[in-house]
Amino acid sequence: MRLREVGWGQEEGEEEEEDEGGGGEMLEGGRGGRIYYRLNDDNTGPELLMEVCRERGWRVWEGGAGEGEEVGGAAPSWHLWWRHGFPSTLYKKLKPHQVVNHIPRAGGLCRKDSLARALHKMRHVFGPAFDFIPATYLLPCEYTKLVAEYTRILYRMDQGANQAKSPASKLPGSTITGPARNKREDTDPNIDNIWICKPICSSQGKGISIFQDLHQLSYASSAVVQRYLHNPLLVGGYKCDVRLYVLVTSFLPLTVYMYTEGIVRFGTEKYNLDSLDNVYSHLTNTSLNRLAPGYSLEKDSVGAGCKWRVGDLRRHLAGCGRSDWLLWQRVWVVVVLTLLTQVGLVAHHPNCFQLYGFDILVDAGLRPWLLEVNRSPSLTHDCHVDRVVKKPLLHHLFDLVGPPRVTEPLGRPLRPPVLFLLARRPRRQLCAALRLLGGLRAGCEGEGCGKRRCGDLRCGRGRCVTEGCDKEGGVKFGEGCGREMYGERCNRGEGCGGEKCGGEGCGRERYGVEGCGRGRYNVEETRNRLTRRESQDSGSSGGGRRRGGECNGGGRLTWGGSAGGAVRWPARCGGWVRTFPFNAVTHHASRDPAYTKTQVGELLRYLRACQRAVKEHPTAPHHALDACVRKLLWRDTVIWAPS
Ligand code: ADP
Repeated sequence: MRLREVGWGQEEGEEEEEDEGGGGEMLEGGRGGRIYYRLNDDNTGPELLMEVCRERGWRVWEGGAGEGEEVGGAAPSWHLWWRHGFPSTLYKKLKPHQVVNHIPRAGGLCRKDSLARALHKMRHVFGPAFDFIPATYLLPCEYTKLVAEYTRILYRMDQGANQAKSPASKLPGSTITGPARNKREDTDPNIDNIWICKPICSSQGKGISIFQDLHQLSYASSAVVQRYLHNPLLVGGYKCDVRLYVLVTSFLPLTVYMYTEGIVRFGTEKYNLDSLDNVYSHLTNTSLNRLAPGYSLEKDSVGAGCKWRVGDLRRHLAGCGRSDWLLWQRVWVVVVLTLLTQVGLVAHHPNCFQLYGFDILVDAGLRPWLLEVNRSPSLTHDCHVDRVVKKPLLHHLFDLVGPPRVTEPLGRPLRPPVLFLLARRPRRQLCAALRLLGGLRAGCEGEGCGKRRCGDLRCGRGRCVTEGCDKEGGVKFGEGCGREMYGERCNRGEGCGGEKCGGEGCGRERYGVEGCGRGRYNVEETRNRLTRRESQDSGSSGGGRRRGGECNGGGRLTWGGSAGGAVRWPARCGGWVRTFPFNAVTHHASRDPAYTKTQVGELLRYLRACQRAVKEHPTAPHHALDACVRKLLWRDTVIWAPS
């Protein structure tokens, strides 16, 4: 009875009913299909996270033999563990049904120095496309470079201020020419020479200082010094930055989702460059501003508190007559380019996902700058905005990657969801389901799982959780099959973009449509090769399913087919939109780190198309710009923007 509902966004009461009813079609075995979650080591964590788990009817896991270990006998093991970090040994011990919230080694971007290093390397290879982080110097090792740059800027400003002076008299890199503020002109010629020093390992604005005079620089431990972005976007005179949530389900192939809501964080005192030591004016960290005298005051445009939803910012910009469409396109490209730095460094782990918080500062010209990537973005609940953003975010996240609705240990095969279709749908849909089933069987046989059992009814959904399948089929639970199941569930879940299949953002269906952009890929050889492979795949992996039929039923993502054992992820799930891969070329290129150049190339092509669309139609509404980009590029292009 109602397997579909159990464990996925159901009300607690429903599950109780299920238990009392004896389990029905749920996974039997005395354990009632319960999902058990763990939070940190003592089962305490962010209030919102606990609330979401409870709302989904999951139970707190209470005890076991040790970290990640199964407990013998009748005691259940956990399904989800949410923790700040895990010992590397844990990942090897994970059972197929266990999911954790970190991907091993995926924190490489989350220290300020390693982020700067990674982007610097990419800048070196791919050029100015990676110029979305302010110039950064790592201290102490790059101190001399910092001094040289500081002096160069002073020299340039000097030249501007006094054209008559001979440039030869002040060569860059000679000596530091005294405090920058001695050179003030009518406005502030030194404005370009403001720097911010941040300790590499701290967070929440701790230990940050802003200076204009190099003599004021002091740091105790390793730090980064960054060019201070002095012209941020101001709302009512207050500085703000944007926290966006990014979910990576795999680094190989790179699969990135971005949430369509985010949080705008404000300083609580008006932005003023004359008082660089006023943290409430220059830093937007909530942890700082929450304690500021101005926090609860009604501030110009911003109101009380220090947070907005991104949607509020969009409305504010629209009210000021500014189009922010290009800004958000740039933002998602920046996010993906940043994550591309890790491709090839982070291995795929089927039981892991990584939720990042990207801090983006938007400047007055609506250009995004990446400030920081957080590995464990705060899920605390400070104000109403947190609740309305983070709670749905977590629900949708679990819809997408949450623990499978299986009990443990996996004593018997799952019943395939198609059986429920059969049980519930009228005859016509039943036939469609049977046809789909035929497709699944064909697909499975082509999926490198050469075992006979893979051709049976359970295949594609149930086989991986069948006892012994690891041995026989060689396809483990999470290695594609589990994902397929998530996608399936996801598309049926509340708010899932499944129904939108074929609509905005889900262009899978359109691959089969006449005039599909694929025919136009003739720019470079790599792209052609990838495209050819795409069509070969489509020919070999389950025939009809690959094309129009791929967005079957709930619009499950199947592009990329089964070739190479690729994991299948839906284009949308609730508020999560898959921003990478975003077309067939990037999909295939994402399987191999050697194709990073192709991936970067596609992203830049996308950005150029966006710029062109805005240039040609500066006053067009956003949906018209979306359509324009799709026309310029691919009809199936995923276009992300906050709601
Ligand atoms: P932390 O990890 O301590 O929060 P961040 O790098 O996020 O450090 O910086 C904290 C705040 O400082 C940001 O929210 C932003 O308002 C401000 N900030 C950081 N770097 C810059 C910069 N280069 N230019 C302007 N403001 C910055």
